[in-house]
Amino acid sequence: MAIGGNVGTGVNITSDMARGQQKIQSQQKNAKKQAEQKKKQGHDQKAAAKAALIYTCTVCRTQMPDPKTFKQHFESKHPKTPLPPELADVQA
Ligand SMILES: [Zn+2]
Repeated sequence: MAIGGNVGTGVNITSDMARGQQKIQSQQKNAKKQAEQKKKQGHDQKAAAKAALIYTCTVCRTQMPDPKTFKQHFESKHPKTPLPPELADVQA
């Protein structure tokens, strides 16, 4: 293998590099976009969780926004576990 062997393929190397550069740039762009989205979602979810997920399943610790969902969850996921007293008179 001659050292100068790649001189003739310089164009290919350049276009490969350009492609690689574009790929990196688009990856960086995507990563930035995803990070921003994640940040936004994380913020929304955090706020929503604080505001809405106030019922925690006593068996599996799943959090739910309302007693109706909690009761439905409890009846379908833990049918053998007695219903918590706070769910006894919830209309599911
Ligand atoms: Zn559960």
